[in-house]
Amino acid sequence: MDLATSGSDIEKVIATHDQIIARLKELARKVESDYEGRDLLLIGVLKGAVMTLADFARELQRHVEMDWMAVSSYGSGTKSSGVVRILKDLDRDITGREVLIIEDIVDTGLTLAWLKSNLESRGAKSVEILTMLRKPDAAKVAVDVKYVGFEIPIEFVVGYGLDFDEKYRNLDFIGVLAKHMYS
Ligand code: 5GP
Repeated sequence: MDLATSGSDIEKVIATHDQIIARLKELARKVESDYEGRDLLLIGVLKGAVMTLADFARELQRHVEMDWMAVSSYGSGTKSSGVVRILKDLDRDITGREVLIIEDIVDTGLTLAWLKSNLESRGAKSVEILTMLRKPDAAKVAVDVKYVGFEIPIEFVVGYGLDFDEKYRNLDFIGVLAKHMYS
């Protein structure tokens, strides 16, 4: 769905579809160069990272493998606590693998910090992170994110995989949800 169709639900556009794809192309060139001569396993975090992984992987001019995990982060209301439960685990053993986690957004960083150390504890050779969005002011824990699409302010964004109540994931751009939609 595009901006014209989503209308007044969106207060402000953070990144258009063209800007997202252009940024993913830049990140793909960096990843190709960093992982030259090394194997690469992309692990997408369901459901938010579906669009990012799909478009990023298609920009990569090299072979990769893909796997998916689904996790749920416990917390009070909308706040993440860092206590994470695995809803869907990987399909394969990652011992000795070079892993790149693909995430939609880093807010507090608690979910990713847990996920990174979980994958490291399974014997992966390396675990790095690529996220489409990061809210830097909200970083509660120092999680090392190697590749960032866009740094954004602390606002509730939807689109391009990110939802509000399971809606808006299919927007082809990222925008700030209008306050009247949830207050
Ligand atoms: P944290 O980094 O706080 O542990 O949690 C990150 C998760 O919180 C993301 O994967 C996403 O599901 C959710 N999240 C954080 N900020 C936003 C936002 O602005 N919009 C949406 N739709 N989800 C968000």
